[in-house]
Amino acid sequence: MNNYDYLIVGSGLFGATFAFLAKQSGKKCLVIDKRFHLGGNVFCEKIQDINVHKYGAHIFHTSNKEVWDFVNSFVPFNRYTNAPIANYKGELYNLPFNMNTFSRMWGVVMPKEAEEKIAQQKSEAIERLKREGVQEPRNLEEQALLLVGNDIYEKLIKGYTEKQWGRKCTELPPFIIKRLPVRMVFDNNYFNDCYQGIPIGGYNKLIDGLLEGIEVKTNADFFENRSYWESCTEKIVFTGKIDEFYDYKYGKLEYRTVRFEQEIIDQPNFQGNAVVNYTDRNVPYTRIIEHKHFEMFGEDVYKTPCTVISKEYSTEWSDGMEPYYPINDDRNNRLYQQYKELANREDRVLFGGRLAEYKYYDMAPVIEQAMNNWKAIIQ
Ligand code: FAD
Ligand code: UDP
Repeated sequence: MNNYDYLIVGSGLFGATFAFLAKQSGKKCLVIDKRFHLGGNVFCEKIQDINVHKYGAHIFHTSNKEVWDFVNSFVPFNRYTNAPIANYKGELYNLPFNMNTFSRMWGVVMPKEAEEKIAQQKSEAIERLKREGVQEPRNLEEQALLLVGNDIYEKLIKGYTEKQWGRKCTELPPFIIKRLPVRMVFDNNYFNDCYQGIPIGGYNKLIDGLLEGIEVKTNADFFENRSYWESCTEKIVFTGKIDEFYDYKYGKLEYRTVRFEQEIIDQPNFQGNAVVNYTDRNVPYTRIIEHKHFEMFGEDVYKTPCTVISKEYSTEWSDGMEPYYPINDDRNNRLYQQYKELANREDRVLFGGRLAEYKYYDMAPVIEQAMNNWKAIIQ
């Protein structure tokens, strides 16, 4: 009873993009999702006329023109530019690390002064690595000290990172902090990409566009009816947890999760910015998101009398929670490789997306990966 060419498990950006491309080529697809809604982590809920990013702030950014044109063909994107503020014990700093940050931190005015200050701060870390005969930074702390020196590490990185990951910076991989640009110019744009923005009207419009005309079922967990789902399709695209697919036979992969504490505030403008990071270890949440600033700019902020904020509390993941961030440390990477070897042997199942590839993926690369997978299939 192979009713479908593809059963797509998960309606996040990987599943939805794959389904769209397969349907365009005449394939019959069924998309199932265990949640009550479609869209995975980009799902938005309208509250007080504001699109609330239910699974944390999602800012689309890419330099891939094909991906940018693709998403804009479903919904136009606005001109939102992410420029988060860091709040350290009431002191406000611009992110990412740029001349505005350095000026506030050290009173420097010219790039040369900032470069000298950072060089001076870095020298201790460089000496230490030399003494220990190490070529490359071994952990996030070493990487951060080499990038920006001790003052910024202590005030803007250490507390935030240890809250977010629940681990010491000395136990985290260096690549996590390399995501953040360091700039010697006055530029608060968090991303280096050519294109960035938020879909006008929210991410649900993008997902609705991708899945238009495709059969979907929500509240449908693949594992609750596995043999039935497997029997109704030729091939499977799986975007859930890869270890769960293999019944955790080698052990469980670890994740970080986030608890969102949402509040409606009876004032039009709470913090004046979409994202404020709290970098002090003693503030229990990592950041506060004020959702209206993703889509309402300037005077428009005052068009709705209320505002909606979410405080983000990062915690260890356990069964029953949403697995948000893969923890790409050695133990987990090794475990993932074992599952990946099993996945490589499958000829009927394709694994894709953040959970199935156990990868700290942003949205645009997820879409790109789904496109590449589809291109490889039709070649
Ligand atoms: P998901 O969106 O997780 O979708 C997987 C889907 O599979 C889910 O809907 C899930 O319910 C479903 N599923 C899982 N198991 C089963 C099962 N057994 N049966 C049925 N369905 C199942 N990226 C950016 O580019 N910019 C950002 O600003 C950004 N911010 C982020 C903030 C947070 C807090 C998080 C967690 C992520 C952020 N991302 C951001 C990353 C972005 O969310 C992902 O890259 C993208 O959503 C991944 O899409 P996906 O399809 O791989 O996974
Ligand atoms: N980071 C930090 N201070 C900040 C913001 C980020 O130290 O104010 C670090 C933190 O370790 C985080 C990493 O930089 O995990 C990458 O940040 P990004 O905002 O890219 O992470 P995301 O929340 O999007 O996963």
